[in-house]
Amino acid sequence: MTFKRGNLEKRVPDLPKQVKWCKKCVMSNQRPRIAFDENGICSACNNLEYKNNVVDWDAREKELITLLDKHRRSDGSWDVIVPSSGGKDSGFVAHQLKYKYGMNPLLVTWSPLKYTDIGIENFRNLCDAGFVNIKCTPNGIIHRKLARLSFEEFGDAFHVFVLGQVFFPIHMALRFGIKLMFYGENGEVEYAGHAEAVDKPYTDRVKDEDWIKGYLKGTTLDELMQYSYENKDYIDEKDLHDADLTFYKPPPREEMLDSGISRTYYYSHFHKWFPQENYYHCVEHTGFKPNPGRTEGTFSKYASLDDKTDGFHYYMRYIKFGLGRCVEDASHEIRDGHIMREEGIALMHRYEGEFPEKYFKDFLEYLGITEDHFWEVVDSWRLPHLWEKVNGEWVLKHPVA
Ligand SMILES: [Zn+2]
Repeated sequence: MTFKRGNLEKRVPDLPKQVKWCKKCVMSNQRPRIAFDENGICSACNNLEYKNNVVDWDAREKELITLLDKHRRSDGSWDVIVPSSGGKDSGFVAHQLKYKYGMNPLLVTWSPLKYTDIGIENFRNLCDAGFVNIKCTPNGIIHRKLARLSFEEFGDAFHVFVLGQVFFPIHMALRFGIKLMFYGENGEVEYAGHAEAVDKPYTDRVKDEDWIKGYLKGTTLDELMQYSYENKDYIDEKDLHDADLTFYKPPPREEMLDSGISRTYYYSHFHKWFPQENYYHCVEHTGFKPNPGRTEGTFSKYASLDDKTDGFHYYMRYIKFGLGRCVEDASHEIRDGHIMREEGIALMHRYEGEFPEKYFKDFLEYLGITEDHFWEVVDSWRLPHLWEKVNGEWVLKHPVA
């Protein structure tokens, strides 16, 4: 398959044309791959019911210990990889694996596009808590071009981060002969999929077709680069075949299968997942610090705060799906019983879709684009069933109520 741009409907496929909001939380049916039941309850809420009432967490912990024992090494070498930017979730997982279960984790980091001060501090503090880290800082010229390309073609500059975050750790696992890898939570399975999917502890990076389609947005980097060479004046042919592109792509399929590292496990399968508790754990044990103020676009202070550009990832989600950053935090807090739905709605009205003003200039400079071009790209991603212009301003047609 070669990459074709297609019209907007093709680029943002399969969204139901009628917007529905979950009756329990504040998530809508516009979240890709989410399912709603006949009572108007989303799969994330139903999955949580399932996890609270059906899952035997003691048995899951035994499952975890069996898995860890299978990979545990007694010669002092690393036996598990934890991809981590220094945030509270991966910090929690690494700390638990090392100090509760006696594993020897290697932390692997794919650098944020543009570190925030608090992000780099948290990253260092986590290493200071007793971890070795291998970090890849990608070629800045190529990275910026790819970020701009991803912004224009996928509506998300952050996609270049996602590629490296997924593939760089697998390259490192192969390099060091480590056969086990742990992420924190599987957002897809936990929040979007059906309950049967919640019973799956891992994603297989080689075999899971849905994953490949969903995460690479139906294309490969090579196809995208080939397309861009013909269509974008800022990409040269010489950019296409460069060793510096290695970590944006998966290692060869056979190598992944032979080494047995195609699976990445999720800690949230084995342990009940509370972002707030991960936060408190890391404050106490890994020197984690929250933002001094609220994160733009939401009410929380502790979620994904290491990259100056990630506010635009959430802002573009808001444009593409009508779902920004606040909706995730508020829905999680409602499901965890920390706030009522009414409070969640009030928070949504207050913060959802707030423009990430603080780093706007940094973002434009990073991509090398003008403000006019930025808005041109933004508006090219507004689906007509979600957005309308009222008195010259874009507004959501069906906000949460
Ligand atoms: Zn829900």
